[in-house]
Amino acid sequence: MVERGVVLSAPGRVALEEIRVEAPGQGEVLVRIEATGVCHSDLHVIEEDGWGHAFPVLLGHEGAGTVEVVGDGVDELAVGDRVVLGWKTACGECATCLRGEPRRCTRPPAAPGRLFRAGGDELTPLLRTGTFATHTVVPQDAAVQVPRELPAEQACLIGCAVATGVFSVLETAKVWEGARVAVIGCGAVGLSVIQGARLAGASEIRAIDLDERKLTQALRFGATHTEPARVDFVFDVVGRRATFEQALAMIGSNGTVVLIGLSPAGERAEVDLPALFGRRARILVSHGGDHLPQEDFPQLARWALDGKLDLAAMVTRTAPLEGWSDALDAMQHGDVIRTVLAP
Ligand SMILES: [Zn+2]
Ligand SMILES: [Zn+2]
Repeated sequence: MVERGVVLSAPGRVALEEIRVEAPGQGEVLVRIEATGVCHSDLHVIEEDGWGHAFPVLLGHEGAGTVEVVGDGVDELAVGDRVVLGWKTACGECATCLRGEPRRCTRPPAAPGRLFRAGGDELTPLLRTGTFATHTVVPQDAAVQVPRELPAEQACLIGCAVATGVFSVLETAKVWEGARVAVIGCGAVGLSVIQGARLAGASEIRAIDLDERKLTQALRFGATHTEPARVDFVFDVVGRRATFEQALAMIGSNGTVVLIGLSPAGERAEVDLPALFGRRARILVSHGGDHLPQEDFPQLARWALDGKLDLAAMVTRTAPLEGWSDALDAMQHGDVIRTVLAP
């Protein structure tokens, strides 16, 4: 069987090509990818010339599949398990992990030296996962078992957009019951922020987006208003000057702005310091909602199976791996909430 993956081989050069996947090493697992969401970060990596990853890069980081081979020393997973891949696994050894903050780990483990182009060059899997592929290899802690009742095309969303959005609310910001919340940018992550705010018991959830279609969708996922107003928490899922400055302008006294969206290189914003001081404002940065895959993925899967989290409605298009390019276009034009590729 030919293994394939979508490879960014040089700045601006992306193609679906044959790849070679080696057996997993000590503590690693080989996963057959059954579904992978197409996320803005994939586009970011293409547009930002690899975003710090060494070329060639195997794209994709929001994947679910089945464990096909386990390496030596793997004790928590077995062949046949349904897993969601996590890009933010804690290493357990860095200073941040050792002081008891694994959610803020700065050195998530990877499984280097397992993925190659057909010609022999070693691939760098995007965010240590590389899921736009038929197979990938990850450390066992980065493959988190979830119930098979959850369809793979829904389960994969847990791996990035849903974990990021929901846990930006519950973990990074710790939104309290009754809080007033606003979300700027209502794509898959923004809709997940809305769902997280609903789970937190927010009294007001304001959806802000330039695209009318997204506002209509936001109302279906739990938004209560579509106009800006003073609130306790604003989540900037876009990360541009205009959205960040709007977020700062929308918080009331003791308000919090949470920056989630990846900004293009060089992006800057202006901050009115007396206003910031006067409001006792807090500015937080959310790296994927500070999620911890081993704890949070099973919880998100349970919420989905219990009907508390709507993943099904987020999957608005499915396509084979060949559809990766159309999927990126559709995302850029706001035509989809999520396209899920089935390798
Ligand atoms: Zn992502
Ligand atoms: Zn660590």
